[in-house]
Amino acid sequence: MPNLQTLLAQSAALHNHLCPRQVLGVQMGIYAGELLGLVLPQENKRLYALIETDGCFADGVAVASGCWLGHRTMRLLDYGKVAATFYDSQTERAVRLAPRPEIRSRAAALYPEARSRWHAQLESYQHLTPAELFKVQSVSLTLDMHAVISRAGVRVNCAACGEEILNEREVLVNGELVCRSCAGEGYYVIARPEVAYAG
Ligand SMILES: [Zn+2]
Ligand SMILES: [Zn+2]
Repeated sequence: MPNLQTLLAQSAALHNHLCPRQVLGVQMGIYAGELLGLVLPQENKRLYALIETDGCFADGVAVASGCWLGHRTMRLLDYGKVAATFYDSQTERAVRLAPRPEIRSRAAALYPEARSRWHAQLESYQHLTPAELFKVQSVSLTLDMHAVISRAGVRVNCAACGEEILNEREVLVNGELVCRSCAGEGYYVIARPEVAYAG
């Protein structure tokens, strides 16, 4: 299994720098493997990471766990927290990890000579153990992971806009299968007709 420094180098390469939140993401991924008894980073799709914020942290989690948005094994549930739940689809066990509230002050105390609090965090998050960094909650999901994962190859065309819908994200409205946007759950409204973009 790759060690912390190897994983940090991979994360930093993706991200063009190393920062404290990436370290937390990598440490979290490593710890999830220990807690769930899985060899990570995975090369299959057994483990899912439900991350609670995007940004630097997400890259660290992906590199260490092998859960990637591109593999459909990472999901962003945006609660604005540097926290993640790791769900083992084989055993259906899930653990949620979040930083202990005192780690910032611990970092400052551990590295009083550091150039800044940021540098103190960058160093200390590499040297504290995952158990010192994170609280662990054994959780059961209210999210239906079978629905989230869906089935490979399922696709239908929206009866209203004609666009293809993957992963059973369609909804039934008045007896027709339509996409969530056409069902009124859109996150946008169309500002101009398509032809306006022709030139
Ligand atoms: Zn960063
Ligand atoms: Zn539609």
